[in-house]
Amino acid sequence: MNIRTQLTLTYIGIVVFVMLGMYFIFESTLKSLFSDQITNELEIQASLTREFLLEELPQKQNFTYGIIDGLVDRLAESGKVRLTFIGEDGIVWGDSDRDGQSLIEMDNHLNRPEVQDTIKDGKGLRNRLSSTTNTEFRYFTLPIKRGENLIGFTRVAMPIETVNESLSKIRKTLLFVSFAGLVLVIIITVFTTGTIVKPIKKLTQMTQSVASGELTTPVEVNSTNELGQLSRNFNLMTDRVQTQIDRISLENQRLETILNSMSEGVLLVNGLSEITYANPAAIAMLNLPENYVGRALIEINRIPQLQELVRNAEKTQELAFSEIRLANLNESEAEVTVVPVPSQSEYVIVIHDVSKLRKLERIRADFVANVSHELRTPLTSIRGYTETLLTNGNTKNKKRKEFLVKILKHSEGLSRLVSDLLELARLETGDVELKRTQCHLKDFHQQVLDVFEPVLEDSGVTLQWEIQEDLPQVSVDSQLFMQVFVNLIDNAIKYTPDGGVITVSAEANGTNSDAVNEVVVHIQDTGIGIPSESQSRVFERFYRVDKGRARKMGGTGLGLAIAKHILLCHNGRIWLDSELGEGTVFHFALPIDFPT
Ligand code: ADP
Repeated sequence: MNIRTQLTLTYIGIVVFVMLGMYFIFESTLKSLFSDQITNELEIQASLTREFLLEELPQKQNFTYGIIDGLVDRLAESGKVRLTFIGEDGIVWGDSDRDGQSLIEMDNHLNRPEVQDTIKDGKGLRNRLSSTTNTEFRYFTLPIKRGENLIGFTRVAMPIETVNESLSKIRKTLLFVSFAGLVLVIIITVFTTGTIVKPIKKLTQMTQSVASGELTTPVEVNSTNELGQLSRNFNLMTDRVQTQIDRISLENQRLETILNSMSEGVLLVNGLSEITYANPAAIAMLNLPENYVGRALIEINRIPQLQELVRNAEKTQELAFSEIRLANLNESEAEVTVVPVPSQSEYVIVIHDVSKLRKLERIRADFVANVSHELRTPLTSIRGYTETLLTNGNTKNKKRKEFLVKILKHSEGLSRLVSDLLELARLETGDVELKRTQCHLKDFHQQVLDVFEPVLEDSGVTLQWEIQEDLPQVSVDSQLFMQVFVNLIDNAIKYTPDGGVITVSAEANGTNSDAVNEVVVHIQDTGIGIPSESQSRVFERFYRVDKGRARKMGGTGLGLAIAKHILLCHNGRIWLDSELGEGTVFHFALPIDFPT
């Protein structure tokens, strides 16, 4: 049922209810008013009749039907009422409705209720069916007395029909007025509801078109009342929504353009690892079919590592990163990052194809390795010949000897550089085959002492070895691993002034859970420290904080880069804390259960 019908029916209901109520109240009030008036009239008539009959009635012994009925008939002529004279013994002597034989045959009226009431109370009023005329009458009876002697009763009666007739006339008028009022109210209601409902209808149509995405046509505002205000607010609201939609779609367009033009692949997967979005680069990299949306990642691209990475991000709710080989034609190498979007339980996968980069890196490493290799033989010859000249040649010429010492020193430096470069190239290209054995860190103590004892004595720096015996063992290539200790302790000695202390300590740690899963080693010195802006760069090749000083110290600038790569080969990590002028701590961590 629409609002208009509802309003109209409600109004009509109210009006019908009110009018019916008024009708019944009016009718019952009128009825009782009429009734009272008729009773009054009957009483007056009865009194007048009594007065008249008292004057005109002969003595009892002279009562004849003819005389008394004649008197009664005369009296009744002027009014619409029925008059009856009843003797004190109940005999009806005169009645305006009966004559002759029918009067004589009338019942004795002494037991009529109104007559009995009159004997008891002095007057009688009754509404009842007349057994004589068989119609309903209102009777009013008064006693007629001469002195103390009751000579009879005068009874005035009016048919109730007369009352009902008058009432029905009034009822008809009332009904007509009510009906006319009702029609008028219906017309007014239909018109008023029309004016109220019209703007609501318009608003409804508008909301329907808004719901179907049409926001541009505003609602007409014709009034200043609440509905007008509502329409104005609605227009404002649709305006705002349209502006927001425009802004969002512009941003969407921008985002789409960015995603489409990216060389990195971007994928969106839900909590069930089903793909919800993929940009063109991702489609190409993973060879996704056309109907990839809603399909499981593993189902359409069989790269278990990718699945594993998503699972890791899901478990930790943190960024997961790995380098994996894609299952496409070129078996491209790619750096893959999975970022959880917690609010939507979705995961953004960013795939960066690094095949070209890796290829270039390999070319560079190969080139460095080749050059280093080519330099190694002549350098060995230079060193050999210089050493021979120094030991066997003419050493009396001071200048000659000085030059030969310099040549030897520089060629040794160059040899160190070449072998460091070769080492680094081997580590970077993954050409090293790790010869892992279970080692205890304490085993490296003696080897370290063997290498550094003479240097420590010269430099006046103390080395404290504080590695406990009960540490878990680690699976490492001990020769390579020794290189890490050598490079770090060598640096610590080089950059710690006389009287300084170098402390080597270690402990077992848990990273992801409470279980112990890595051993962390700390090499702390009381040296010059590293400025904060250089701390993140010291692991780069050839990076030195103070170039002149480092060169004088005989460093190649590759020591930390080599240490970092050895640790990476062992799945470990290296980092540092340093305070300028206070000292530096290098930390490195090694997993205990290194996967083979
Ligand atoms: P180098 O052969 O020059 O020592 P490294 O790669 O071993 O090259 O170190 C890089 C640079 O880091 C060094 O030149 C030096 O400036 C800085 N460095 C390394 N270790 C320390 C240390 N323990 N204290 C202060 N500076 C250091």
